[in-house]
Amino acid sequence: MVDNNLPPLALFQQVVDCLPLRIFYKDRDSVYLGGNAAFVQDAGLSHVDELIGKTDFELAWTPEQAEAFRQDDQEVMSSGESKLNIEEPQTQGDGEQHWLVTNKVPLRNADGEVVGVMGTYSDITERKTAEARLNFEATHDALTGLANRRAVEQELSCALKTGAGASVIYIDLDGFKDVNDLYGHAFGDQVLMALSQRLQLKVPDNWLVARLGGDEFLLLWQGPEHAALENESRLVAGKLVELIRQPLIVASRPINLGASAGVYIAQPNDDVETCLRCADLAMYQSKISGRGAVTLYDPEAHYVADAEMALLRDIDEGLAAREFLMHYQPQFSVSGQLLGVEALLRWQHDGVLVRPAEFIAVAERAECIHALGQLALELACRDFVKWRRALAAKQQSASQFVAINVSPAQLSAAGFVEQVLAVVKKYQLPPELVHLEITETVVFGNIENTIAVLHQLRQAGFVIVLDDFGTGYSSLNYLAQLPIDKVKLDRSFIAKIDHDERYRHVVRTTISMCHDLGMQVVCEGVETTQQLDVVKSLGCDELQGFCLAKPMALADLLDEFAKSS
Ligand code: C2E
Ligand code: MG
Ligand code: MG
Repeated sequence: MVDNNLPPLALFQQVVDCLPLRIFYKDRDSVYLGGNAAFVQDAGLSHVDELIGKTDFELAWTPEQAEAFRQDDQEVMSSGESKLNIEEPQTQGDGEQHWLVTNKVPLRNADGEVVGVMGTYSDITERKTAEARLNFEATHDALTGLANRRAVEQELSCALKTGAGASVIYIDLDGFKDVNDLYGHAFGDQVLMALSQRLQLKVPDNWLVARLGGDEFLLLWQGPEHAALENESRLVAGKLVELIRQPLIVASRPINLGASAGVYIAQPNDDVETCLRCADLAMYQSKISGRGAVTLYDPEAHYVADAEMALLRDIDEGLAAREFLMHYQPQFSVSGQLLGVEALLRWQHDGVLVRPAEFIAVAERAECIHALGQLALELACRDFVKWRRALAAKQQSASQFVAINVSPAQLSAAGFVEQVLAVVKKYQLPPELVHLEITETVVFGNIENTIAVLHQLRQAGFVIVLDDFGTGYSSLNYLAQLPIDKVKLDRSFIAKIDHDERYRHVVRTTISMCHDLGMQVVCEGVETTQQLDVVKSLGCDELQGFCLAKPMALADLLDEFAKSS
């Protein structure tokens, strides 16, 4: 409440004390003439009388701040122009830094001459803190606290605008999906946090470390262009891959990860998107050429087409979203007895059931064939157990097999035999009921290795089938060398046998040769009853094709082939 009986000066003081602002006024030499109570408190004083006659150098602020305030006053007074809405920091009597928005206005006498300066300010520390927090959140990854994609884009955009040099290293972890699958996402998050800490500690200070999301990281360097940048970037990328490869201990569990890296050095006129895309392309090239590689983007090189890269990404996401499943196509003896089923991978993607022709070949050129292959094994064995149980429940014979397709890349990967054994053991399946179908082209990889792996698998009891026989190169030589139990004649032969006598001869001879070598022969792709009659007459052992049964979902297989008779 303002007291009406006060003398004018005291009344004025009371009015300014009531204002929700800090107010002060000084003379021509920046000596205080007065201020309101809130300002007096900020200055570390208790009464306005202590303020009058002092300069900023005698108040709570640091000498640097006092000097800055003085200069500001003098500028306003000599120019005669107000400075409005200036945001500046101030250390107050409590020793804490506050943020202020200030206004400084020249004070004039009746003749219009500047005789002093009046200032007001409000404390905007809270707003500034909130802004800083929002800005941090917008440019940092919530999980790891590393910079995020937005921060990278901002920094890179600045570097490109100023014409400075920039180098981008794109990193994608190998094997992180397995960690998530094995131990769950919460544990996966802990691994990412531990890894981020390691990266931040070990990566040279002049590189910005960012997480783009999922298991993708990025390193950005910017500064004056120099000739050794390419080598230096490659070196940093190599060290980084090494660093990621060193086991991490998370919750007392040793975790082994790997990484693939792509390096891109920004070129004049590049935009942010180009830099990130080229580094990403180079990284994908590393993925394809095998784990742990570092690829420097080469404008001359032919990289995986964008569409293929998008497909690989979709496959990875499809794996994470469990979009893959198996269909089963029955195989019969010539007398019509059900012998087993072939497991055929399907991808339930965007409402469509995608067939392997559309993704297996692409997956085979990349790393994800291993994850797909492992999944196929797992799904086929799991479903096979269900089918066997259903057959047993109906007191039907349980001697049927499941045939699983194995990709060349899987066969040559270290630990493949152990991997197959582990799955079969997990589902307690007799290995002799698990048939592994290998395509003929595999043989042309490393023949010694192929023979050794097939021997091991066969010794463990698995039945080895040579798939799509006749589509590869001349493999008669290999047929004699490889440990094979069964040959599947490709359907391109079967399609021709009912109207081309020469093919009938080829098929008959092939069947008899295989029999001589102690191998069974399956004719696949039998589509018509006419073809069926011909292949039967040519002496084949097993039959598979649309005219007998089409590939079907597990539920349909259970329905159709585990009915009580
Ligand atoms: P494949 O192993 O030779 O499998 C037989 C393919 O022939 C299957 O195609 C099947 O649906 C088709 N087929 C069967 N009978 C007939 C017929 O009478 N007429 C015609 N026109 N086609 C018939 P699908 O399922 O599209 O599989 C294509 C190929 O994809 C497979 O050829 C196999 O090489 C590969 N594949 C399938 N599943 C897997 C898998 O789990 N892992 C790997 N690595 N490859 C797989
Ligand atoms: Mg097959
Ligand atoms: Mg085949």
